[in-house]
Amino acid sequence: MKKTEKLTACPLCKKTGAPILCSRLDMIVRKCRGCGLMFQGPDSPARHNRELIEKIYAQYAGHIRQHLRLNRPRVLQMEALLGRPFRGLKVLEVGAGNGALGHMLTMAGADYTGLEPMELCRRAALEQFPELAGRLVPEKLRAGLFPERSFDVVVATDTLEHMDDPLEAAKTMALLLRPGGKAYFEVPNESLFRLKGFARVALKMYGGGYPTNPDHAFLFTVATFRLLLEKAGLREEKLVKDSVLGNPARIKIAFNGRPPFPLLAASWFFKYTQVDKLLEQGVLAAVVSRGALPSAAPAPRTERA
Ligand SMILES: [Zn+2]
Repeated sequence: MKKTEKLTACPLCKKTGAPILCSRLDMIVRKCRGCGLMFQGPDSPARHNRELIEKIYAQYAGHIRQHLRLNRPRVLQMEALLGRPFRGLKVLEVGAGNGALGHMLTMAGADYTGLEPMELCRRAALEQFPELAGRLVPEKLRAGLFPERSFDVVVATDTLEHMDDPLEAAKTMALLLRPGGKAYFEVPNESLFRLKGFARVALKMYGGGYPTNPDHAFLFTVATFRLLLEKAGLREEKLVKDSVLGNPARIKIAFNGRPPFPLLAASWFFKYTQVDKLLEQGVLAAVVSRGALPSAAPAPRTERA
């Protein structure tokens, strides 16, 4: 593959020549002509701007109270979607962040392990939640890190969009599920991206006005999220759309604790009216199980009926 083809190749369907959808500051977002996936390719400098990204993470890792407020109902929703309580289940969280969800899952009785490669997130997690000591693994997800079929539930919230190769990651997570096991994924819903990007720039979000988080390499919609799940050999059991605008805790985290007042007021309005769900914004949450793995899946596996 030629260099320009590599830069414009869609990570999901592999079609080359994805044109630029938007370019702002040092961020370049492309959109695949084949499957519609929006992504920051390797040629988007913002994606490699570590100083900026670490700053965004440092802000994100604070606001523990808001994170707990966000994760308390999230655990209940996860249990409802998974169709069973976490008590006694072996759970892997990929991208443990500041440990708020890990703390809640541990409280819910899960046998919890969290993967978190960023030191500043791990430090924040252990300062707030000492019970996670020995449960956080300082690594990125990779094949062979854990034996296959070793978890009842694999959780990745706000994680797939950050990864270098979310398709490979989803396949790896599928292999970690025990028979009957399920994975729970949440990704931002980036439908109506142009409109949202415009608003984020106007609100000077993400360190001065980017249309999306510089560390979000992939911008999913319902269609491209479903395509990712399908290509990873995962069977969709449930897919729900959750609100971000109608969740004041999320809004406070996104604006480093100080959202503009009109936005916070709007957030409470949306929380109770739910009309923002009509706007295709928010997050996509999916519960998936291990389907028939596609032939492109990693070779070593022993399938038992
Ligand atoms: Zn594509």
